[in-house]
Amino acid sequence: MGRNVKAQFIPGTNIEMLKEPVFIESGITMPYTYSVGDFGTKFFTELRDNAKIFGVRCPTCNRVLIPPRSTCGWCFSKLDEWVELSGKGTLMSYTIVHYPSAVHPVKPPIVYGIIQLDGADTGLAHLIGEADPESLRIGMRVWAVFKEKREGNILDINYFKPL
Ligand SMILES: [Zn+2]
Repeated sequence: MGRNVKAQFIPGTNIEMLKEPVFIESGITMPYTYSVGDFGTKFFTELRDNAKIFGVRCPTCNRVLIPPRSTCGWCFSKLDEWVELSGKGTLMSYTIVHYPSAVHPVKPPIVYGIIQLDGADTGLAHLIGEADPESLRIGMRVWAVFKEKREGNILDINYFKPL
C-alpha cells in the first residue's frame, strides 16, 4: 500500500481511469472435509486398493458414466450396475498450463486432458504425462498410470500417458 496512484478523467464521462493498477496481497485458508458418498467411496476405494477404475451403467439408456454417480445425467434413472474399465481410452481434448498455482497438483508446464475411457460415455478430466506436449493430438490413445502409493483420491491415477 501507500502507492501513488494517478487517476485520469475521461472527457465526456464521469469515469476516472486509473493509470496504474493497484494490487492488494491477501490470502484465504479454508480447510474442509466432505463425504464423497456411497458411489465416490466405491470409486476411490477401488482406485486405492486395486488400481481399478469403475464406472456405472445406466439401465435405461445404457450409458456408462465416470466418475460414477447415483443418477443418470441424461435420463435421470437410478444407477447401480458397476462396470470395470480397462484404464485405456482416447484423448478427447487437452490444454497446456504454463503458470504455477497452488491449485495445480504438479508444477507447470501441465497438460490437462479429457479422457474418454474405453466403454465409457463420459470424459474424465486428468493429467497427461510422459508426453511431449507438441506430440499430443485429439483422438490419440492413452492409458492410466497409477501411483505406487495410493491414498484414495483421483490422483491415485498419476496421469494418463500415450499408448
Ligand atoms: Zn440414462
